[in-house]
Amino acid sequence: MGYSEGFVASLAAIVGRLRDEPGVRVRVRVGSDAVCRACSSLSAGGCTRYGMSVVHQDARVADVLGVASGDEMTWDALRARVREAVAPDDLSDLCAGCPWLGYGVCAEGIADLRAGLPLTSGCP
Ligand code: SF4
Repeated sequence: MGYSEGFVASLAAIVGRLRDEPGVRVRVRVGSDAVCRACSSLSAGGCTRYGMSVVHQDARVADVLGVASGDEMTWDALRARVREAVAPDDLSDLCAGCPWLGYGVCAEGIADLRAGLPLTSGCP
């Protein structure tokens, strides 16, 4: 479900590392992030596909999780915040307008997280 083979490989590597090293430190980014680095839509000015809408989306999620751009913590700690603050049904409001929302993979990922299941590579 990615944009190119290179993007899929990069995302799979990121997801694999998060799954295998839950204690790895991550930095919150409101705006273009490590996932975007392999995307052909990333330009010096940001995302050419979604523009500021994706930045506003990030800011909404960061607000719900009680984090700010630049915050650093372990992946496990960030995941715990998601587990406590977000339910699968919340995504219809929280992620309203996201073109990936209708596929349902993110809601499935949140449900898996709440059930204590490991991260899969399905969520974009
Ligand atoms: S937010 Fe934009 S640049 Fe980042 S992965 Fe999505 S489409 Fe690509």
